[in-house]
Amino acid sequence: MPIDPTRPYDDSNVFAKILRGELPCKKVYEDDWALAFHDINPLAPVHILVIPKGSYVSWDDFSANGSEEEIAGFVRAVGKVARDQQLVVQGYRVLANIGKRAGQEVAHLHVHIFGGQPLGPMLAR
Ligand code: 5GP
Repeated sequence: MPIDPTRPYDDSNVFAKILRGELPCKKVYEDDWALAFHDINPLAPVHILVIPKGSYVSWDDFSANGSEEEIAGFVRAVGKVARDQQLVVQGYRVLANIGKRAGQEVAHLHVHIFGGQPLGPMLAR
C-alpha cells in the first residue's frame, strides 16, 4: 500500500527502526548524513538503499526542508556508495519513488541504487 507523502513523519516506519538499531540490515556504508544497506528484496545484482539520518518522509519533504548540510551529505553519500561498489564504469541507476503513483512503500526517504546488469528502459510500458 503506497504511503501518503504529505503526512507528517511517523517514526514507526521500518527504516526509522533500522536507523535506531531495532531492526537489522546488511549495511554497506554509514556516515553522519546517511546509511546505506542492501534491499531486502533485490531487483538487480546490486540493489542498495541509501537513507538520510534525518527524519524525512520523501524526496519532496527532504528537498523542501532538509538543511544544506544534510542535502549535500546525503547526495555525496549516494555517489560514494556507487563508486565504492565499482558501478561507475558499467553504469548504474538512482531512483526515488515519491507517493502513490510511484508506489512509495516506506515513509522515510530512500534512494535506490541499481547496478550489476543492463537496467533496461527507464519506465515499464
Ligand atoms: P519503495 O517502493 O518505497 O521505493 O521501496 C521500498 C523498498 O524497501 C523495497 O524495495 C523493499 O524491498 C525495501 N524494504 C522494505 N522493508 C525492508 C526492510 O525491512 N529491510 C530492507 N533492507 N529493505 C526493505
